[in-house]
Amino acid sequence: MKSNATDIIIIGGGLAGLVSAIHLSKAGLAVTLIEKNEYPKHKVCGEYVSNEVLPYLQLLGADPMTTGAKRINRFLLSTTRGKTIETKLPLGGFGVSRYTLDHFLLQKALQNNCTVLQDTVTDVQFENELFRVLTKDGKELTAKIVIGAFGKRSNIDVKIERAFIKHRSPFVAVKTHLKGDFPKTW
Ligand SMILES: Cc1cc2nc3c(=O)[nH]c(=O)nc-3n(C[C@H](O)[C@H](O)[C@H](O)COP(=O)(O)OP(=O)(O)OC[C@H]3O[C@@H](n4cnc5c(N)ncnc54)[C@H](O)[C@@H]3O)c2cc1C
Repeated sequence: MKSNATDIIIIGGGLAGLVSAIHLSKAGLAVTLIEKNEYPKHKVCGEYVSNEVLPYLQLLGADPMTTGAKRINRFLLSTTRGKTIETKLPLGGFGVSRYTLDHFLLQKALQNNCTVLQDTVTDVQFENELFRVLTKDGKELTAKIVIGAFGKRSNIDVKIERAFIKHRSPFVAVKTHLKGDFPKTW
């Protein structure tokens, strides 16, 4: 088993992992990010991101508006019979799919010389002030700092026996993208 040292290992390349990778690499640290899925990847998501995060993403040099994200400043609620109520969204946000946003952030991380591995982390051990991160493909990486950005209900939650993972989640989410002749006012 080969052991590779890096300043920081990030487990999980979703939004938290990718922005951490960009920020830390911009600060001059050697970052290795491990993501189990291949990019670009779909993820069930409402695709609404509040404008609160825009200044931070711009600071990172990752302005999502350059991806073709759409500004959203109105909220409209409709019933199945077509009745609607509408209001302005004072702060507003933008609409972008995770397929686009995650891939965009990945490209920024790669431009900053982050190492990105497609692999699944199977175990994390801590001994003598050093983390050892083991992967499904038989890699062993070491670092003094590890960021667990593996989202919710990961195999790592099972491995470290977190209490919530013993209960099945009662939630189901479904998303679809439809093409059609929709009114322009939508
Ligand atoms: C149905 C639904 C709709 C949502 N809609 C919105 C919305 O419209 N707007 C909004 O702002 N938020 C929305 N959210 C919340 C948003 O998805 C989360 O806040 C966000 O994904 C959290 O980012 P994260 O990076 O922490 O986790 P994630 O995005 O889940 O990323 C975790 C990553 O870790 C990887 N991973 C896990 N285990 C391992 C492992 N062992 N080894 C390697 N990689 C691993 C996963 O493959 C994944 O890519 C929604 C959530 C749900 C469930």
